[in-house]
Amino acid sequence: MDETKIEYGTDVFNESVMRAYLAKDTAEALLHTMRDHAPLNPAIANEVAHALKQWAMARGATHFTHWFQPLTGSTAEKHDAFFEPIGVGQTLARFSGKNLIMGEPDASSFPSGGLRRTFEARGYTAWDVTSPAFIKRHANGATLCIPTVFCSYTGEVLDKKTPLLRSMQALEKAVRRLMAAFGAPAEGHVVCTLGPEQEYFLIDRSFWLKRPDLIQCGRTLFGAPPARHQQLEDHYFGSIKPRVIAFMEDVERELWRLGIPAKTRHNEVAPAQFELAPMFEELNLAVDHNMLVMETLRNVAERHGFVCLLHEKPFAGVNGSGKHNNWSVAYDGKNLLDPGKNPQENAIFLAMLASVIRAIDLHADILRAATAGAGNDHRLGANEAPPSIISIFLGEELSGVIDRIEKGARATGGQDATLRVGVDTLPPLPRDTTDRNRTSPFAFTGNKFEFRAPGSSQNCAGVCMVLNTIVAESVDTVAAAIEKLPKERFNDGLQKILQAVITDHKRVIFNGDGYSEAWVAEAARRGLPNLHATPEALAPMLAQKNLDLFAKAGVLSPTEMESRHAVFMEEYARKVTIEGKAALEMARSMIEPAATAEFGAVCKAIESAQGIGVRAGVSVREVAETLGMGLDALHEACKALEAALGAGEPARILEALATLRKSVDKLEEDVDDARWPLPKYRDMLFVY
Ligand code: ADP
Ligand code: MG
Repeated sequence: MDETKIEYGTDVFNESVMRAYLAKDTAEALLHTMRDHAPLNPAIANEVAHALKQWAMARGATHFTHWFQPLTGSTAEKHDAFFEPIGVGQTLARFSGKNLIMGEPDASSFPSGGLRRTFEARGYTAWDVTSPAFIKRHANGATLCIPTVFCSYTGEVLDKKTPLLRSMQALEKAVRRLMAAFGAPAEGHVVCTLGPEQEYFLIDRSFWLKRPDLIQCGRTLFGAPPARHQQLEDHYFGSIKPRVIAFMEDVERELWRLGIPAKTRHNEVAPAQFELAPMFEELNLAVDHNMLVMETLRNVAERHGFVCLLHEKPFAGVNGSGKHNNWSVAYDGKNLLDPGKNPQENAIFLAMLASVIRAIDLHADILRAATAGAGNDHRLGANEAPPSIISIFLGEELSGVIDRIEKGARATGGQDATLRVGVDTLPPLPRDTTDRNRTSPFAFTGNKFEFRAPGSSQNCAGVCMVLNTIVAESVDTVAAAIEKLPKERFNDGLQKILQAVITDHKRVIFNGDGYSEAWVAEAARRGLPNLHATPEALAPMLAQKNLDLFAKAGVLSPTEMESRHAVFMEEYARKVTIEGKAALEMARSMIEPAATAEFGAVCKAIESAQGIGVRAGVSVREVAETLGMGLDALHEACKALEAALGAGEPARILEALATLRKSVDKLEEDVDDARWPLPKYRDMLFVY
């Protein structure tokens, strides 16, 4: 490939643009602010705003927007033109420091969980300097986007970014403390890193247009399994079809222009399912970038006559889509989850590892809560996605190491069996990908953790905010213990600390098959939570221990936690209700008429056969009767769903929906193909 033809980061207000458009001192000050998460000096805001405007307009932008991430789970933007009239028929392009730093969207229509009643609608967005401004392109123009956080005037947060940034601070502080306990300089630079692998489906737009369920809910509410789905296992890593690769190339070009390091593309397990993985980046940026990845996938798909489905379970019976969050922390450029090469590096790695194990064991409930949602419920716990039981996979070698540390401190067993922290060197840990356990929700993969439970449509901010917070608490606790160790007994003492953590929390480590029934029973025996549906999975958000944890970390106040819980519960109920209503409408206005017509045609055939004296045998009658019974079942199921919708109970709606689906899917097999009003799985998943 001709490197000069790749436009990388050309639509980002990056370091080189800053240096080109800003005075040296201003550029330095801004870069310092970005890198060190320092507060922006208001004195430079006007100059920065002017530079941004000049740059953006030179690149075709006519508007600017504060770009933020409300609790809806998507991004929000309200565009304003740069132009301001100065007299009749004359205008001037204006963009001030004030415009840059703060915006006041009418916040009343965003979910707040009761934090902000409509009559006190005011909220404001504030520039998040750590994420660079960028330009979004549309068919006829472009908009300068300023990544921002979103708060209410009373100070409560209304978005997903603010708590994420706070959680990063909590983790930074804890990691610094840990590193200081190991004798590192206290002011080292801590960076949380994230590489989110994005799974998605592509279907032809013409099918989508005929599926009200996909249009309204993002998933098929009906659809019989086709003869061939994913059992041949021929899609995963298969050669990518020309139409799809053309789409992928367009997506990548757009992402690269935005400075998003899209790196890997491949076919996923289910037919019509694909994955895009970027190189990891600083967590905050990676979160923003993933939001843009999802948007870009959707937009480019449309241009290619596809629709990109980001729902966690668009099709029953084939794999759903997740978003694997590859997460780690680095200190002064060194990845702390990399085992390292000498006993000192190993010791730091083991302290981090032990902290993560402790965090996941103590706070599995709140981590599970972060992945909850109407879409992901169809995926977690089904035999294809990591189960709703949160456990850690370490792999054989690292589990062996953990065992030996435990033994070492107890000083039982032979010398060979023990590992002395800070003295012995860790054996090399394999990093190959072939025999990795794919059934674990939280897996150590050589130099990072891969959290696989999050759903494909979810904003990474929520899960990473929780992960940072629980690990921060744990790192802080471990660091506090290490700090107290006398120099001369440091290694022995460290070993004892790690041993205690391992002994107390190793129940959360599980290297076996996470999809097996045996694990469900075993996890229950170990006392690990297994929270299935969203309402029960979200409940831990209100547990006192979690309210205290988030308040102490300075990430979310109890009021903010409670309001978030309310928002997510309501969103869940709304989504389930929409699905119920959509299904009922489709069943009554599309399925029932088709099945009735079929039934009528068969009955008519029997009648006219008899009229001309042709024998209408048992088989035709059976067909008619099957259809008749199918229609009865459909009718009953519709009534039950209607009642459930009336009662407004999500669990009942989902149950009634499942029953209705059974009767519709049965009719799909019995009704004339030409009469069936919905595109079928065999077409949607294979014809593209
Ligand atoms: P695979 O897991 O498929 O073998 P990789 O190990 O290369 O692939 O990485 C998968 C994802 O994890 C990529 O997005 C990659 O950038 C990311 N990743 C790698 N190292 C880190 C890290 N230190 N922190 C966060 N993410 C990482
Ligand atoms: Mg994958």
